[in-house]
Amino acid sequence: MKRGHVPVRTCLVCMRKRPRVELVRLGLDAENGRVLEDRQAKMKGRGAYACCECLSALRLDRRMQRAFRNRAREVCVLNVPHLE
Ligand SMILES: [Zn+2]
Repeated sequence: MKRGHVPVRTCLVCMRKRPRVELVRLGLDAENGRVLEDRQAKMKGRGAYACCECLSALRLDRRMQRAFRNRAREVCVLNVPHLE
């Protein structure tokens, strides 16, 4: 039993390691290759993580392709929500 264990993930953009709860999960829509935010962790398959402040810097680069096994075609992640 790992009491107090904090799951850590690496941001896809800046490669910093952070507790998973501080990162935004990204999922892949297998139908159209779109990379989307997956805040409720509902999407199937492999996920990736990025810091909120790094979302706007997400690119379809090799690192992302590796994370999604070359299935990513488009990044459809909304940037940090605007306050209206
Ligand atoms: Zn980051």
